[in-house]
Amino acid sequence: MSINVTDIKQLVYCPRVIYYTYVEPVPRKVSFKMEYARSQHYELNQKEKRRTLKRYNLIEGQRLYGVTVSSDSLNLIGKLDILIDTENKNGQRYYPVECKDTDSKIHKNIIYQLAAYAMCIEEMTKTSVRKGYIYIIPKQKAYPINITDDQKNYVRKITSMIKKIIYEEYYPEPRSKKRCWDCEFQRYCSDCDLPNLNEMKERNKELMRELLGFK
Ligand code: SF4
Repeated sequence: MSINVTDIKQLVYCPRVIYYTYVEPVPRKVSFKMEYARSQHYELNQKEKRRTLKRYNLIEGQRLYGVTVSSDSLNLIGKLDILIDTENKNGQRYYPVECKDTDSKIHKNIIYQLAAYAMCIEEMTKTSVRKGYIYIIPKQKAYPINITDDQKNYVRKITSMIKKIIYEEYYPEPRSKKRCWDCEFQRYCSDCDLPNLNEMKERNKELMRELLGFK
């Protein structure tokens, strides 16, 4: 069984999400946040097909959408939002672009996911990938991200952890209980740390401001 690249993002968010996905699957609800993200991704792909690559500060190249990439050595598979093929003969040829649907800061889980895509591309194409982009949909802006050896090593550690959870049916500790308040799995974690009702209301307001772009 292959691990999906999105599992890397999930593990960094909370390792228990992996447990509830593979070891003891539980019904998942599609939240408003997830539905919104899906519609934004769809719109982006439609619009992006008509645009140039200038905003990425790259020379023109072929844009490939929803490309399946994989790594046998890491046992990883995933679907990359955009792969740019610059056809460069010297230097980096392929650039992964991962799209993000909120304008909150770029969290590490997204960067590790991008690094994992880069590692898959390296293995498939036998070329080096040292830079990728995270495209923030609400800002319509791509941020260059350097992909480092440390990030790649961390991705290796994360994939080992994911395998441990799945194959040894290991129930992990949460990474941070601060994330429990808007987690779709909170009813399955008896030890999650939920804030009081007023804090929840405030955080929900923050989320709406973030999603809808209010200041
Ligand atoms: S509720 Fe908390 S501990 Fe449980 S999966 Fe979500 S973030 Fe992790």
